[in-house]
Amino acid sequence: MTPGLAPAALAALVDAVGADHVLTDAEVTAGHVVDWTGRFRGATPAVVRPRTHDEVAAVVAVARAHQLAIVPQGGNTGLVGGSVPLAGEVVLSTARLAGVLAVDAASGHLTAGAGTPLARVQDAARAAGWAYGVDLAARDSATIGGNVATNAGGLRVVAHGPTRAQLVGVAAVLGTGATVDDLGRLEKDVTGYDLSGLLCGSEGTLGVITAVRLRLVPARPERVVVALGFGSMAGAVEAVGRLRRALPDLEAAEAYGAAEAELVAGHLGSVPVVDAPVTVVVEVAASTDPTDGVAEAVGALDGVLEVHVAADGPRRAALWRPRETITEAIATVGPHHKLDVSLPADELGDFAVEVERRVGEAVPGARTWIFGHLGDGNLHVNVTGVEPDDATVDDVVLGLVLERRGSISAEHGIGTAKRAWLGRQRGDDALATMRAIRAACDPDGILNPAVLL
Ligand SMILES: Cc1cc2nc3c(=O)[nH]c(=O)nc-3n(C[C@H](O)[C@H](O)[C@H](O)COP(=O)(O)OP(=O)(O)OC[C@H]3O[C@@H](n4cnc5c(N)ncnc54)[C@H](O)[C@@H]3O)c2cc1C
Repeated sequence: MTPGLAPAALAALVDAVGADHVLTDAEVTAGHVVDWTGRFRGATPAVVRPRTHDEVAAVVAVARAHQLAIVPQGGNTGLVGGSVPLAGEVVLSTARLAGVLAVDAASGHLTAGAGTPLARVQDAARAAGWAYGVDLAARDSATIGGNVATNAGGLRVVAHGPTRAQLVGVAAVLGTGATVDDLGRLEKDVTGYDLSGLLCGSEGTLGVITAVRLRLVPARPERVVVALGFGSMAGAVEAVGRLRRALPDLEAAEAYGAAEAELVAGHLGSVPVVDAPVTVVVEVAASTDPTDGVAEAVGALDGVLEVHVAADGPRRAALWRPRETITEAIATVGPHHKLDVSLPADELGDFAVEVERRVGEAVPGARTWIFGHLGDGNLHVNVTGVEPDDATVDDVVLGLVLERRGSISAEHGIGTAKRAWLGRQRGDDALATMRAIRAACDPDGILNPAVLL
């Protein structure tokens, strides 16, 4: 018998998806119970792998009948402890709900199964002469369903907005067992509550998303990447604001510090591209060569210590590589606390200095690593040298964020990691409304019970 799962419940899951797709061997399920950071580790009696929307509905029905809690899991690249079974839940993996189902080149819409990796969505959009507006370093593993469930942001928000801005509609099974089918919705469609929008960012607490319909953006093939050195984060923030105004085709504006550059260089066995306290990587994409406009805009900036320009693919990739490798490099230091926050532009520079000071005072031996999507006011504060369960640094960082009028979660979500902080950010009325919505969509409390509220 599977520990924690009654024989009748196990048999019902096998009926729902087939014996080959109910995994109970601890060695086989091991990768599903620990998160990408190594900070959150749980246990599960079974991982179920439905292949269709109807099979997902069948699993949800079994969960309701047998009072099983479920954790929907896509690529398991989430960074807030929301995708792993921390309280012994059954894992519902979307791995077999994968595949691009349709691309409507005329309307610029793409439909894909929830388990499709983001990179496959991007490739399919490109093949149809369009582009997909969201990109993140976890693109090969993160799924499009997970992106919608977390309203993922990433590297292109400054140009195209987060996942929510790309979403036309989803298919999903709610915790009630009801189906949401918005895959046929049109670009303009004002017919009552936006249920797909509600599921976007709900972190698997209202329903299991089985497929998504996405809005594509025009392809902009001519690209220039520039890596700029600055003396401080405040100087970098000021420069990015000016670049956003001067360059309507700006597609990304990312930043990291000298310590982060050194860490990545050590990890990659190379030397930092830029030798300055803060590096900003900017990408501009247009239909005609944007180099002259970029040169003019960069030339008008104050406080630039170094400039590196790349127009061809390999050199562009080389300028991006340190930024894209930071998360991976930090993971090699050990389990870490990841605090993804956003601040008003006029607070970012001060915050970056102050947060490091306060963490150092509160937890001697802790090390702070800061990088992020500067164009969106979004910094990732990572702290190593702290026990996974010790929430002291979380309290220090998030407390400072609230003092400075920021958001405790810019793009990763609340998960279990920031649950205790949600009320302080959103207030009692918002929380009560969220609870009511959750109770309406999942009255039995079977979906991600440890997440969000
Ligand atoms: C190297 C790296 C870089 C990253 N960069 C970024 C970044 O720039 N921007 C950003 O926003 N995030 C980033 N992330 C975080 C992560 O990739 C995103 O949160 C991503 O959207 C998660 O997708 P996933 O398929 O891995 O979801 P999972 O990690 O499997 O799940 C995340 C949450 O969504 C729920 N969920 C997953 N699939 C479904 C579904 N089909 N239906 C309902 N609920 C579901 C889960 O229950 C969980 O609560 C990064 C992660 C890594 C490891």
